[in-house]
Amino acid sequence: MLSVQGVTKRFDGLVAVSKMSFHVAAQEMVGVIGPNGSGKTTMMNLISGVYTPSEGGISLHGRQISNLPPQHICREGIGRTFQLVRLLPGLTVLENVKAGAVFGHKRRWGRDADQFALEMLERVGLEGQSHAPISTLTYIDQKRVELARVLAGEPEVLLLDEWLAGLNPTELETGIQLIHDLRDEGRTVVMVEHVMDAIRSLCDRCVVMSSGTKIAEGTPEEVLSDKEVIKAYLGD
Ligand code: ADP
Repeated sequence: MLSVQGVTKRFDGLVAVSKMSFHVAAQEMVGVIGPNGSGKTTMMNLISGVYTPSEGGISLHGRQISNLPPQHICREGIGRTFQLVRLLPGLTVLENVKAGAVFGHKRRWGRDADQFALEMLERVGLEGQSHAPISTLTYIDQKRVELARVLAGEPEVLLLDEWLAGLNPTELETGIQLIHDLRDEGRTVVMVEHVMDAIRSLCDRCVVMSSGTKIAEGTPEEVLSDKEVIKAYLGD
C-alpha cells in the first residue's frame, strides 16, 4: 500500500532522515518509534508532503507521491493528524469535520458531506456536539474532532502523529480504544507514538528510528527487547 524507498531529508547541513525504507501493507498498523530527535515527525512530514525528500521516493499503490504538494497527497489517499491539534477554531465541530469530507480522498459535497461528517462524529462519540464551537471543547474532544475530520476524507492510509500525547490516564484508555476500533475496521495506519502500551497493544509491526536511520523493524515484542533499540532509548 505505502512504500518508503531510500528516503533522505537534509536541512542545510543536518541529515534528519537518512536512507529510510519501509513498507506498509493494506490493513496493517505500523508504529514508528524512537527517541526524541530521531526523525519520526520529519518522516511523517515527508509522507504527507509537508517536505519533499532530498533523495529517494514514496509511493502509494505504486504511484509516486513524493513530489506532490500536501493537498494532492491528501486527495491521493493519505490523511493525517498533527502532533498539536490543528482545527479551524472559528468553525463548529461539524463544519470542521465537513471540511475533511470536502477536501479529502473521496470528495463529498453538500448534504452528502454533512451526512458523512455526522456519521464520523458518531464514530468518535461526539454526535451530541456537532454545533459546538471548537473553542468550547476539551482537549480530548478536540482530538476526537481531528480524528473524525481525517476519517471524513476516507483516507486509504491514516497517519497518526502522537495522537495520544497529552491525554490523562482515563482519556488515554478512551483514546487507545478509539484506535483499536480503527484496527478492527481494517484501516491502514502508520502511527508515531511514545505511549509504549499503545504500541504493544495496537501495532502489528514497528519501525524503530534513531539518528534519522532505521535501527530495527519487527513486532512490538521483538523490537522492544532488541539490545540496539534499548541502547538508543537509554543512551550509551
Ligand atoms: P522526532 O520526531 O523523532 O523527535 P524530528 O523529526 O522532529 O524528530 O527531528 C529530527 C531532526 O531533524 C532533529 O535534529 C531536528 O532538530 C531536525 N529538524 C526537524 N525539522 C527541521 C527543520 N524544519 N529544519 C531544520 N532541522 C529540522
